[in-house]
Amino acid sequence: MLMTASLPHEATVWHTVPIDKAIELLNSDRTQGLTSEEVAERQREFGLNELEETGGRTAFIILLDQFKNVMLIMLIAVAIISGIMDLMDLRAGTVASNDIPFKDTIAILAIVFLNGLLGYMQESRAEKALAALKNLSSPKVRVNRNGKILEIDSKELVPGDIMMLEAGVQIAADGRLLDVANLQVREAALTGEAQAVNKRLNTDLDEDTPLGDRRNTVFQGTEVVNGRGTVLVTNTGMKTEIGKIATMLQSVESEPTPLQQRMDHLSKALVTGALSLVAIVIVGGVIVSGWERLRELVEVSLSMAVAVVPEGLPAVITVTLAIGTQRMVRRHALIRKLPAVETLGSVTTICSDKTGTLTQNKMVVQAIHPPSGSVQLTGQGYVPEGDFLRDGEPITVSNHREIEALMAGCLLCNDAVLQKEEGEWAILGDPTEGALVVAAAKTHIDRHLLTAELERVQEFSFSSERKRMSVIVDTAASKKDEAIAILPTRDHLTPYLLFCKGSPELVLERCDRVLIGERPQPLTDEQRQQIVEQNNQLASKGLRVLGFSYKSLEILPDANEEDQAEQGMVWLGLVDMLDAPRPEVRDAVARCRSAGIRPIMITGDHQLTARAIAEDLGIAEAGDTVITGRELEHMENAELDESVRRVCIYARVAPEHKLRIVQSLQRQGKIVAMTGDGVNDAPALKQADIGIAMGITGTDVSKEASDTVLLDDNFATIVAAVEEGRVVYTNVRRFIKYILGSNIGEVLTIAVSPLLVSGGVPLTPLQILWMNLVTDGLPALALAVEPAEPNVMARPPHDPKESIFARGLGAYMVRIGIVLAIIATSLMVFAYWYTNQPDTVGSPGRWRTMVFTTLCVAQMGHALAIRSNTQLTLELNPLSNPYVIAAVTLTTLLQLALIYVEPLRNFFGTEVLNSTELLICIGFSSLMFVWVELEKIFLRFYFRNKRS
Ligand code: ADP
Ligand code: MG
Repeated sequence: MLMTASLPHEATVWHTVPIDKAIELLNSDRTQGLTSEEVAERQREFGLNELEETGGRTAFIILLDQFKNVMLIMLIAVAIISGIMDLMDLRAGTVASNDIPFKDTIAILAIVFLNGLLGYMQESRAEKALAALKNLSSPKVRVNRNGKILEIDSKELVPGDIMMLEAGVQIAADGRLLDVANLQVREAALTGEAQAVNKRLNTDLDEDTPLGDRRNTVFQGTEVVNGRGTVLVTNTGMKTEIGKIATMLQSVESEPTPLQQRMDHLSKALVTGALSLVAIVIVGGVIVSGWERLRELVEVSLSMAVAVVPEGLPAVITVTLAIGTQRMVRRHALIRKLPAVETLGSVTTICSDKTGTLTQNKMVVQAIHPPSGSVQLTGQGYVPEGDFLRDGEPITVSNHREIEALMAGCLLCNDAVLQKEEGEWAILGDPTEGALVVAAAKTHIDRHLLTAELERVQEFSFSSERKRMSVIVDTAASKKDEAIAILPTRDHLTPYLLFCKGSPELVLERCDRVLIGERPQPLTDEQRQQIVEQNNQLASKGLRVLGFSYKSLEILPDANEEDQAEQGMVWLGLVDMLDAPRPEVRDAVARCRSAGIRPIMITGDHQLTARAIAEDLGIAEAGDTVITGRELEHMENAELDESVRRVCIYARVAPEHKLRIVQSLQRQGKIVAMTGDGVNDAPALKQADIGIAMGITGTDVSKEASDTVLLDDNFATIVAAVEEGRVVYTNVRRFIKYILGSNIGEVLTIAVSPLLVSGGVPLTPLQILWMNLVTDGLPALALAVEPAEPNVMARPPHDPKESIFARGLGAYMVRIGIVLAIIATSLMVFAYWYTNQPDTVGSPGRWRTMVFTTLCVAQMGHALAIRSNTQLTLELNPLSNPYVIAAVTLTTLLQLALIYVEPLRNFFGTEVLNSTELLICIGFSSLMFVWVELEKIFLRFYFRNKRS
């Protein structure tokens, strides 16, 4: 029965084939779609519908990029100079017998290479992780298979599938149109033409029609900006037009983050500083003590150059950002662009949609309000069972013409599907429309019959600008009286009937009659006033209210005649539905407030509904001003800026207003996160510092434009992501001060050593590399996963323009560097004296090993103490970050191995220390821990006194 073998060759010129022939060629079916077996068969034959990733960086380029770093280049220079010096020693025959020649050079080069490799591994892992995250947000497609509408991953599409298109969708495969309703597609990705193209069903295209003019065809990677359509998929994967030109549509964005850029600047500054210091030491040294100490001075300089470079830092930063994105995704925020991890931490204003983000988007119709009086609905959720009650008494809907007519409007002016999925009633489509289907399903009306008999022949689709939608059905084509019977015009049937629903004010504006009983009557001003008041009353309870109307038509209007067609309609009534606030949002709003972040609600809904929900959630206070889209329209920028400072609720807005609000906030220096779901939200999402798309209800276009996707559409998730962003930033600052403080300490210790002791540099380049990579690197990695401090969300956001060294970080680094240097030099002087006693046993060079050990162990104490800026180490739960303890233990053991394991000792040029000497080192080192703890105690007293 399977006929895949006879499927046409990919060279078929699809836009010239008559549509029925195309369906036949692909062995598909207009109403049933493919069967599961056929789909499986075709997936085997055609593979997944995916573009092969050709973009991104190749492994080799990533590796090469690691060596573009100025710091590594300087290290290579150090290796070369050190090699030349060894070569001179070799020639002169002044090498000690047990020394390995070119040891430093080889080691430095090895570590440079290792560092590059490490960076490479982390970066390619980060890139892979990003690609995987991107996959998680892979678009879904609605298809008809086995005669049922379902949603599948776009990569599962096969040729022959019947695919549905609607506004906001990014088209997932190439195909021929079977049906269109105002379908407009932006094909810029393929043709470069920014203007959207109107699609049609014409069949008169030549074989060589250019892509941009193939009106009866849609292409993968293009975007539906308006209308709907049904498509017969003809080509998938790399066989599509976009696949053929192999454009990278799905390239992973891996722009350098602001932090990485800052680090780049920092490393340049460090290298410049190091080179200047080297010049000063060499020139100054030669002037003071003449040429004979030149060699020692060069050695000191080389060591300083190595010491100043934080070799481990870039890798630690990459890992931290990667961990940050993972933590965020665990809390349902998907990062699409790496810089967002940091920017999230500095957000000052969150502009959020109401419907679905602040509320649950599980709408249930509470009551309907035809002109003859309100009717309450009972029932639970999406289950199509319940009663219609008037004054508490059940009524029979078939006895009430107006109610029947209103329900017909609910069903016909609707694209949602109500069906049972795994025993549960579920909605496919817009929840607002779903609620209407559920309500109508509680009556005697057969919804399947109605929609099948009254074929939709035209529609003016919903958009956030129009805030309404209309459909026109063909009554003449209907064969069943049952369907006609519930229409408001059954006794005076016209060939076409239009049903409109939308924002009550807008629908009512376009009505001049009202259906009371059997017949439309003129709508009086008094009635109009009553409807408006009723709407306000319902809205101020936080209910979402829609208005309904209909109109008889003799002739079918064109797609562009919506304005005319939607005039002079007959009012049917209001329908209200409850969309309860998400329970966790109230708490999230409170957390925003304590974190100095201002939540703002922006919604297309009615101002009173918006205010009721905003008050309930704590976003606004009773009586706060609401700005509507219409008011906003008339405001100049200056006036808008003034209002934006105070107003937290914007109602009945259109997407272009969102853009203006973001821009206004940004003019005031705010860092704005903005949510969006529709096609037209894309500009505002791009403009915002953090564009946030909805994972469930969001259109592909909005996701493409965003930095972050909320997998659960939930406002509370935004707040969680902000918190994670702050944790990342705090941790980055923590390990930067840890690492750079140590570098400063090392450089100072080396720089003063020629003044205090004679007998060479205390630290060899090899030992310094070891410290910077291992003793600084490992604990820094552990500090990067430090959990949130209790006060992360209890302080204002940091200024994103501030230097990473702001708020005392630079001062701390220098201070701690000096303390470390004082500890190390005092020990150096003591150890030099101690090991050079005439009666001591062992090599006189042991003082160097003691300096080396002290610096390392002191940093271990530093790592333990720096976990919190305010809490003493004793007050912290040591197991809240077990990695720090593990890293400190491991590093200390490794340090001991360098001293007591013979091959390592030879390689690193250390000497055995006896237990007394080791204890002396540990004693001096612990001063570092004590100092950092004392600082915290001092600050505590200082602030307490300042406050009182
Ligand atoms: P929001 O999602 O913030 O409520 P929208 O822009 O989606 O804003 O909707 C704006 C208004 O348009 C709604 O308040 C409602 O009155 C109307 N509306 C929403 N969905 C539909 C729909 N499917 N059909 C007709 N009108 C709708
Ligand atoms: Mg909406």
